[in-house]
Amino acid sequence: MCSIIGYYGNKIAAPIIVKGLKRMEYRGYDSVGVATESNNQIELKKGVGKVQEVNSKVQLDTLPGKIGIGHTRWATHGKVTDVNAHPHPSSSGKLAIVHNGIIDNFEELKKQLEKEGYIFKSETDSEVIANLLQKNYEATGDVKETIMKTVSEIKGHYAFVAMFENGQLAAARFHEPLIIGVGQDDFFLSSDVLGFIEYTDDAIYMENGNFVILDKNKFQMSDFSGKHVGYAITKVSKEFGDAYKGDYAHFTLKEIYEQPTTILKAGEKTKDAVEKVADHIKHAKNIYMTGSGTSYNSALIAKQILSKFAKIRVETIMSSELQFSSDSIEKNSILIAISQSGESADVLEAVKIAKKANCKIISIVNLTASSLARESDIIIGLNCGPEIGVAATKSFTSQLAIIYKMVQKLSDDKIEIDFNKISESILKILENPTKIQQIAKELKNISDIYVLGRGIHYPIAIEAALKLKELTYIHAEGIPGGELKHGPLALMDSNVFVIIINPNDSTYSDTLTSAREIKARGAKIIGISDVKSNVYDYHIEIPETDELSYPISEIIAIQMLSYYAAIEKDTDPDYPRNLAKSVTVK
Ligand code: GLU
Repeated sequence: MCSIIGYYGNKIAAPIIVKGLKRMEYRGYDSVGVATESNNQIELKKGVGKVQEVNSKVQLDTLPGKIGIGHTRWATHGKVTDVNAHPHPSSSGKLAIVHNGIIDNFEELKKQLEKEGYIFKSETDSEVIANLLQKNYEATGDVKETIMKTVSEIKGHYAFVAMFENGQLAAARFHEPLIIGVGQDDFFLSSDVLGFIEYTDDAIYMENGNFVILDKNKFQMSDFSGKHVGYAITKVSKEFGDAYKGDYAHFTLKEIYEQPTTILKAGEKTKDAVEKVADHIKHAKNIYMTGSGTSYNSALIAKQILSKFAKIRVETIMSSELQFSSDSIEKNSILIAISQSGESADVLEAVKIAKKANCKIISIVNLTASSLARESDIIIGLNCGPEIGVAATKSFTSQLAIIYKMVQKLSDDKIEIDFNKISESILKILENPTKIQQIAKELKNISDIYVLGRGIHYPIAIEAALKLKELTYIHAEGIPGGELKHGPLALMDSNVFVIIINPNDSTYSDTLTSAREIKARGAKIIGISDVKSNVYDYHIEIPETDELSYPISEIIAIQMLSYYAAIEKDTDPDYPRNLAKSVTVK
C-alpha cells in the first residue's frame, strides 16, 4: 500500500526522502511526490509513475531544505493524476500533508470548508486534512491544538504527516502504520522501517490514537486528547535493511530461491510460542483462523491437517468476511490470525471483532513489531526476512512450516516431519528451472488456466491460481478434483490449460482420472507429480516425498512457473498492476 515519509534533521531532506520512497516502492503505488520547507516556504513536486521516472522528470530530490515529507499514493478517492498525487498543500499553501488511508466523512467536511472559502484542487479525500488543519491553525495558532481539533473532526483510517511553513512537523496515527526512526540528530516518520533503515535501527512504533510534534526544541508525543504519552525505542532487526535484489533479476525470484533456508527458520525466534499455542488449542472451545489472500490459503491447509492428524476442528473465515459472521464468533474462543505484514486492514478488523468476543488472539506473522503482533496474546514469527515481491512466496511456505509444527505438537501419533528433507526437495526443484521455463513459454498467449487438486492439494490449487493471477494476469481458478463433473468440466476445450496437482499419495488415482477426463475435452495438461504419465502434455517433476511435504514442493513449482510466465508476458513480477503488498485500507 502507499507509503508516507517525513524527515526532520540536519541533512538535506529531499534525497533522503526519495531514497526512502524507493525502498518502500514494493508496497505498491501509482504516483509519488515530495514537499520540503526552507526559509519558511514550502515547495512541492509530484507526478504519476515510478519514483525513478517521476524523479528524472521533475527532480524531486533537488528540493531545498532539511525538513520534508514524501508519499507514494495508491489511489482510493480520485483518479491517478498528477493533481491527485500527494503531498497536498492547504488553500493558503502555508502547510502541506501526506496521508495514507481513507477519510470517511470527507464529503461533508469538504462541503463545509468550501462554503467557508477554502479551495480544493484535487478529487482526493486527503485534501480535507490539509484545509482542516489550516482552518484550525488559523483559529488556534498552535500546532498541538490544531492536530487535536483536526483528529476530533475527521473519521476514518489514517496516518498523516503535516509540514507547517514555520518548519514544524506533526504526524498522527489512527489504524494505519506509522513508525518513527530516531537518528543521531534527526527523525524519520515512516509507514515502514525500510523508509529509514539505512540511517538508523532505533524505532518507535507509534500507538494508535497518538500524534507527535517535531520542532527545533522538542519531540512531543501525545494521545488524541492532548495528554503526553511515553514511548519505547526498539531496535529494528538489521535484516530488514537487507532488502536488495542482489544478483537476482527480481525480488520475487530472490524470495522464491530463499525458501530452502527460510523453511528451516520458520518460528525459530519464537520457539516456545508454538508450544504455548498448541496448549491453548488443546483446551479451546472453538478455534477460528483468519487471513487474507495467500495467508487465508494457509489457513485452509491448517484446517485440513489439524482435522486429519490431530482431530481438531478449526473454522476458517476470510478476514474481509468475518465482520458479516461476527455474531457466530463464540465468546472466549481462539482466533489465529495469519499475515505477512501484520498490517492488513481486514485482518486487524477481524482481530478487533474477535477481541470484543473476548477471544485469545494468536498471530502467525512475519513482522513481529506490526500492529497485528501488538494486538496478539501470542506471536509466532515467520522469521523469513523482508518479503518485497507483492505476490507472497516465501511467507506462504513459512506459514505452512509453522502450521506443520503446530500439528506435530498436537497429533496423537506424533507425526514425523523432516524439515531438512523438505528443504532439499525445494532445492531440487529450484536447481532445474529449464523445464519450467519452457512450459512457461506455452502460457504466453493463453487466457484461461485451471489448477486441479484434491484433499490438501486443493488449497494448493487455490494458492496456485492466485499466484498465476497476480504474476501473469491470466484468468486462473482452483478446482477441487471431485467437483469437476459438477460444473468446471463445461469449461474444458482446446483453448485452456489445466495444471493437475498429482503427487503419489491417496489422491493420485482419482486425480489422474480427472486429468484423463479433461484431456478428452482437448485441454492441455500440465502435470505436477513425482510420477510420469502419458496423460500429461507437460510434466513438472517434483521429488518423491511424504504427504505433508508434497504441498510445499507443489507450490514451489507453481511459483516458478508463474514467475517465468510473467517474464514471458513482460509483466512486472515484483509489482503486479493494481495490487499492493500490504493492504492497509479496507
Ligand atoms: N485516500 C487517499 C487518496 O486516494 C490516500 C490513498 C493512499 O493511502 O495512498 O489519495
